[in-house]
Amino acid sequence: MKTFPKQLALFALFFTLFSCAEKKKEAEKLAYEKPNIIFIMSDDHAYQAISAYSDHLIETPNIDRIGREGIVFTNACVSNSICAPSRATILTGKHTHINGKVDNQMPFDTTQVTFPQLFQNAGYQTAMFGKLHFGNNPKGVDEFMILPGQGFYINPDFITKTGDTTQIEGYVTDIITDLTLDWLDKKRDTLKPFMLMYLHKAPHRPWWPSPEKFKEFVTKEFPEPASLFDDYKNRGTAAKTAEMNLLHDMMYSHDSKVRPETVAKMKNVTPVVREYKGGWENPYVNRATEAQKALYDPILDEINKDFETNWPSMSEEEKMKWKYQRYMQDYLACISSVDDNVGRLLDYLDESKLSDNTMVVYTSDQGFYLGEHGWFDKRFIYDESFKTPLLVRWPNRFQPGITSEEMVQNLDFAQTFLEAAQIEAPEDMQGESLMPLLTSNDTEWTRDAVYYHYYEYPAVHQVKRHYGIVTIDYKLAHFYYDVDEWELYDRKKDPQEMNNVYDDPAYADVVVELKKKLEELRVQYKDSDELNQHYIDLHHANRIDSPLNKKG
Ligand code: CA
Repeated sequence: MKTFPKQLALFALFFTLFSCAEKKKEAEKLAYEKPNIIFIMSDDHAYQAISAYSDHLIETPNIDRIGREGIVFTNACVSNSICAPSRATILTGKHTHINGKVDNQMPFDTTQVTFPQLFQNAGYQTAMFGKLHFGNNPKGVDEFMILPGQGFYINPDFITKTGDTTQIEGYVTDIITDLTLDWLDKKRDTLKPFMLMYLHKAPHRPWWPSPEKFKEFVTKEFPEPASLFDDYKNRGTAAKTAEMNLLHDMMYSHDSKVRPETVAKMKNVTPVVREYKGGWENPYVNRATEAQKALYDPILDEINKDFETNWPSMSEEEKMKWKYQRYMQDYLACISSVDDNVGRLLDYLDESKLSDNTMVVYTSDQGFYLGEHGWFDKRFIYDESFKTPLLVRWPNRFQPGITSEEMVQNLDFAQTFLEAAQIEAPEDMQGESLMPLLTSNDTEWTRDAVYYHYYEYPAVHQVKRHYGIVTIDYKLAHFYYDVDEWELYDRKKDPQEMNNVYDDPAYADVVVELKKKLEELRVQYKDSDELNQHYIDLHHANRIDSPLNKKG
């Protein structure tokens, strides 16, 4: 009978192992019922540069795949078209006049609830990799590695949760994806659902591509937008005084990759463009290794040779065209890397059988001008900056191949994710869950207008403060500081927004109706003239100018 206890022990061990495996299986099954959420956001990615919207500039097969297997929103927009305020709205589900982050400089009150905290409290595993650019470290994420501030394209530094800063050699878009895939594959707890934020720095200015993409795109030629040589006739003062014109405001070294010594050699470089001191050294000269420079320099040599040889004899029109091509070559090269890397992530989800129950969202923190109206940058309520890409996929719940024209906003994201994960959203969030639209229950969706408010003025690019209302058919905006001007655009008849019809008697009734609706929205979202003055006073009291706004 000596062997009995041994057999019993073996049996007990086997039983324990078996029941552990069963428990793990049960937990995995439970975890599967709640969706995983992957929020992919790029910085300044114009919808014009996604082929799901238009393929006139670039093919983005991987980003398109999200929309093809899910939903593409053609009227998705932001509530304040600038980086940190958009991020604050996404995290809090509140307009910027409520969460306080009305411009890039305004501090964020970190005692406010952000949606990752709600996921963490509900048992989700949470992580964030890439660019937050928010002024504070994220709350409610179990693990993060984020770029400090704007971060760098080449050999970027990352801030970790322990407070260390670590530099990683390589190209930022690839590295952010490596960190994300490493966490998904090796570090997360497979027993829990996850909410992951995968946030690209690209294609934010100064648009440094990877050496491979730089080489590939530098010889390409892109179609010019119809309004490249816009004279801003029939628009208000704000469009005429903004400083975001490709010819007059885009910098030679910081943006167009002309070396400072090449610029210095040229006797009559006109127009005189203000350069950001360090705008060449910081992102490139002081970051790239000798091996990397050996890849970049031959391409830079060609650009500089071209500039030196041809610029002096070019007309103003030719200079504009030259700058536009340089801009598109670099911007779209950065997009191409983003698209490749989104493909890596989608492939990983397929291989690891995570695709079906993972809600994948692709968006940008706002839109961007790709030469329309002669501009780069963002800020205005006009379409290219007001609208933002939004593609969403969740095979277990959403039908594939749907296009929605509904007026949806970044304000809605937090409540959408919370509803998808069956987590209760706080009462004071101001958006609406997009789940009815995503699950094709459109009758539950009643919104017909959105509210917009931009604040960062006076500041870099000099876009005046304005608020407004946008419907599918019209856009009404009030530029209330420095000037007191109203603008109305007929979105159907004038999609390029070239004619302000505010004073056109034919639109008198539309103006009355929209002004009434605008006031209703301001009451609904708790905005007011008193708040406008409060933020103007704060701006003047706290102003810290961006280095880009200083001469020298
Ligand atoms: Ca941005």
